[in-house]
Amino acid sequence: MSKRVQASASLESARLQDIVALCKRRGFAFPGSEIYGGLQAAWDYGPLGVELRNNIKRAWWEAMTYQREDVVGIDAAILMARQVWQASGHEAGFNDPLVDCKNCKNRFRADILVEDQDKLGLAHDVCIICGKQGTLTEPRQFNLMFKMNFGPVADDASIVYLRPETAQGIYVNFVNVQQAMRRKLPFGIAQIGKAFRNEIVTANFIFRLREFEQMEMQFFVEPGSEDRWFQEWRQTRWEWYRTVGMTMEHLHWHQHGPDELAHYAKEAWDIYYDFPFGSKEMEGIHNRTDFDLRRHAEFSGKDLTYLDEQNGNKRYLPYVVETSVGADRLTLALLCDAYNEDIVDGEKRVVMRFHKRIAPVKVAVMPLSKKEPLVKLAKDVRASLMHLGLTQYDDTGGNIGRRYRRQDEIGTPFCVTVDFQSLEDNQVTVRDRDTTEQRRVPIADLPDILARDLRS
Ligand code: ATP
Repeated sequence: MSKRVQASASLESARLQDIVALCKRRGFAFPGSEIYGGLQAAWDYGPLGVELRNNIKRAWWEAMTYQREDVVGIDAAILMARQVWQASGHEAGFNDPLVDCKNCKNRFRADILVEDQDKLGLAHDVCIICGKQGTLTEPRQFNLMFKMNFGPVADDASIVYLRPETAQGIYVNFVNVQQAMRRKLPFGIAQIGKAFRNEIVTANFIFRLREFEQMEMQFFVEPGSEDRWFQEWRQTRWEWYRTVGMTMEHLHWHQHGPDELAHYAKEAWDIYYDFPFGSKEMEGIHNRTDFDLRRHAEFSGKDLTYLDEQNGNKRYLPYVVETSVGADRLTLALLCDAYNEDIVDGEKRVVMRFHKRIAPVKVAVMPLSKKEPLVKLAKDVRASLMHLGLTQYDDTGGNIGRRYRRQDEIGTPFCVTVDFQSLEDNQVTVRDRDTTEQRRVPIADLPDILARDLRS
């Protein structure tokens, strides 16, 4: 690191408000329906946010499918037959306990309320917002699924739900995929897609949303081998975070105790991330046994067993190890992780130290002046770099240091400056986001050099 970078602020000083403000100011995320006063917990990803999130999803997809021989992908429909959710247990049991304060009218998720009361040292009958005692209602069960009607007639027969998890789309396609792809166990099916939960309380930017995206993989194994596969997937998923530049000290394991385990799970471990508002779940790894396939076989009347030809033609329902991470929650974790403040040339700068593979903008090209023939050369340079990913062209003039600072704030790994000397020596200056060091590079070699550096 350059000597000019004098200090680096740690994650602890990164406040969520600063990150949210930066995201809005620089086009990562905007409050949903903002011109109508906003829709709570709905966020729209802007030009940089969609790029960041797509890069994260691509990194996951590549690791989970292209780089494995034993996982294939699907993309199931969001709307599924109502029986799917009856079989899965969601219609009867996908509930959160809800508590209201009769005084201040605030609404809480009972389990989170108790955690907050404990943190604040309050008795369990005291409202954490208005501080009144005895105004909290008894917990009521509230189903988190969004209910709607399919087709023109709104009656019981037309009820469908917006899926609260993507996993069921995989289970109902298990036999289709296995047969079409001639797969032998063990193998997995991966999917990235939207999920919807009518969360009682939403908070913390894109941490808890009502519409979000999940990246899930269900791995089907022979009963009896699930514990070994569970351990293997725990390790694989943990290691994956290094490949997107996560600070590993900010990750922790959390094992579900008996009162936390979902109805379908035999064992569950979460990967927690140290968000600025506390250490919270980011990914879940679950041993779902044969619960889901068994229920779908019962409810549909279809045979969902697997014929194990390599194992004496045994027939059985596979067990399932699931890995499930929210794309939005992970995006927030990587935003928090990247956020840094340091001092360059005596001035404070905000720098998003994204891993190069997930950085939304890969290279920014800046002509030193807005005049020809510099502009033409700078535009040609930019055109030669477009295959590397999203590039920006900044000819706003003025201080080049200020332009570098703007790119640091969105995490652009490299800035390329085209100056008057470039017209003579066919070289440009490449400036590195992390070290702030600058080097002269021949224009002809620039695409190859940057392609290599972006991979490193
Ligand atoms: P929580 O306890 O935070 O409500 P959960 O245990 O219900 O989460 P899972 O059902 O295991 O979550 O979902 C898997 C992943 O999907 C979570 O680890 C998280 O990353 C993501 N996720 C779940 N609910 C939401 C939400 N409302 N908004 C954003 N991401 C979510």
